[in-house]
Amino acid sequence: MDTRPRLLLSIDLEDWHQLVHRRLGLEDWDRPYPQFESHVRALLELLDELDALATFFLLGMTVANHRELVGEIVSRGHDAASHGYAHARVPGQGRQQFRSDLERSIETIESATGRVPVAYRAPAFSITRATPWAYDVLAELGFRCDSSQYDSPRIADRLRGIPDAPYRLQLQNGSELWEFPVATRGPLPVGGGSYWRILPAATIARGLREFSVLYFHPYEFAREPLRASLPPSPSVRQRLVAGTRSAWRNSGRALVAKRLRTIARSYRLVSYDQAYDDIARRYGESTRALSQEGVLV
Ligand SMILES: [Zn+2]
Repeated sequence: MDTRPRLLLSIDLEDWHQLVHRRLGLEDWDRPYPQFESHVRALLELLDELDALATFFLLGMTVANHRELVGEIVSRGHDAASHGYAHARVPGQGRQQFRSDLERSIETIESATGRVPVAYRAPAFSITRATPWAYDVLAELGFRCDSSQYDSPRIADRLRGIPDAPYRLQLQNGSELWEFPVATRGPLPVGGGSYWRILPAATIARGLREFSVLYFHPYEFAREPLRASLPPSPSVRQRLVAGTRSAWRNSGRALVAKRLRTIARSYRLVSYDQAYDDIARRYGESTRALSQEGVLV
């Protein structure tokens, strides 16, 4: 019997080239990029090697370009969850716009995979103190779980008092959502991102415990360096954005797969769906509500 404690593995399924090229203002930013499929293949191979399943937070506008690939991900047993449609930060959208973006993502995901997503993660963990209404919208649209909370100092306007384990978030309107916050250990965000490329694997492993949430993106598993394209006569801003984005995302990137392999020796990597029942048993009594000031109490 496998006695390793379990970690919740999540992937934000978005196309790095699509997002960077949109930021660069390239006319054809929304086309399908062949690199994306190879990033996803590298990730799926690693998950097979580690005998791991993951919850995939699917970005609607990326799914629309890669319907078959996304269908295949789900047919391999991974969970279909939502990362919204257009990767717009929640505070930049009003309540109605947020709702429309979510509805569009649900339709796109359902049509590509046959599954209706019940878990959500906001782009850039952007449900902030300014947007507590986002949780009400999620509950209204039938979501049962959110994984947008990450107590990282890099997220300036994040909610305060974010617990470091799953809990039930009680909403004003009487409904509730399960919240699976991304892993932190004291002041260290150890769930993924740049810290995964900076901290030694042993430090990360010590910072985790059963049902800690990890998050990654397909580009982190790319076998070739990431390179943003530039238009024929790029502006200074475009050069700068393309250069810094590529450099930042390439630096130390090979460490991510290596560290995941090391951590998978002591932890089993599972999807949210595989763990719901045990989490409900263990944390069913753990509840929080959100105060007016954006503090979880
Ligand atoms: Zn994202």
